[in-house]
Amino acid sequence: MAIKYRRVLLKCSGEALMGPTPYGIDFETVDRITAEVRSVHALGAQVSLVIGGGNIFRGVAGATRGMQRASADYMGMLATVINALAVQHALESHGVATRVMSAIRMDTVCEPYIRRRAIRHLEKGRVVIFAAGTGNPFFTTDTAAALRAAEMGCDALLKGTQVDGVYSDDPKKNPQATRYETLTYMDVLQRDLKVMDASAVSLARENKIPILVFSLHEPGGFAKVLAGDGRCTIIQDV
Ligand code: UDP
Repeated sequence: MAIKYRRVLLKCSGEALMGPTPYGIDFETVDRITAEVRSVHALGAQVSLVIGGGNIFRGVAGATRGMQRASADYMGMLATVINALAVQHALESHGVATRVMSAIRMDTVCEPYIRRRAIRHLEKGRVVIFAAGTGNPFFTTDTAAALRAAEMGCDALLKGTQVDGVYSDDPKKNPQATRYETLTYMDVLQRDLKVMDASAVSLARENKIPILVFSLHEPGGFAKVLAGDGRCTIIQDV
């Protein structure tokens, strides 16, 4: 299978790692998701990942309980490091070389994020997992994903979700909802379509990185989308 996008970044929410469980990490689910990453890697794609932290902690949750938002956000960023290590384990147990690079230094656990070094890892065929978001409170891992995709010079930013693209309405609630094949960045921003947050979409737009929204639940879906024939919504300027 020939791939259309050679260097890519996949954003996967923390919640996707919960699988059927109400909280935390379901290792079977992590294994299933990382199987998708492995198959894309085997096709010769240079793959990087940003994993969210919502399955463990979100900054806003702490803030509503009276914590300072910035401190709560640091807790959220640390949650993404826990997820990154789980994903690293799942990939390496199948023989895929990986590096976790954190935006918050914790040198005994993983590497610090250094842009040129991350690019080198990708060139050497290692899967790079970017942890701790942007390293700054008041941001999200969506924005971290768009930022790292721009820094790595990625050909595409992939957003793995529960459904196979962006719909006019919630397809799980409204059977009349229709799926968009393509959208422009402006469509997403102006219609406030819930794909990625606005700063992530703006960053992708400025750097002309197409966003491909696809389902993480279809086996082989990630590879098909990279080959250009999978079910997804492509967000780009025409
Ligand atoms: N976070 C942050 N700065 C970042 C990325 C993440 O402060 O650059 C914090 C924020 O509190 C957020 C939490 O980390 O709620 C987990 O990330 P996110 O909510 O984006 O995870 P997801 O919804 O994708 O699981």
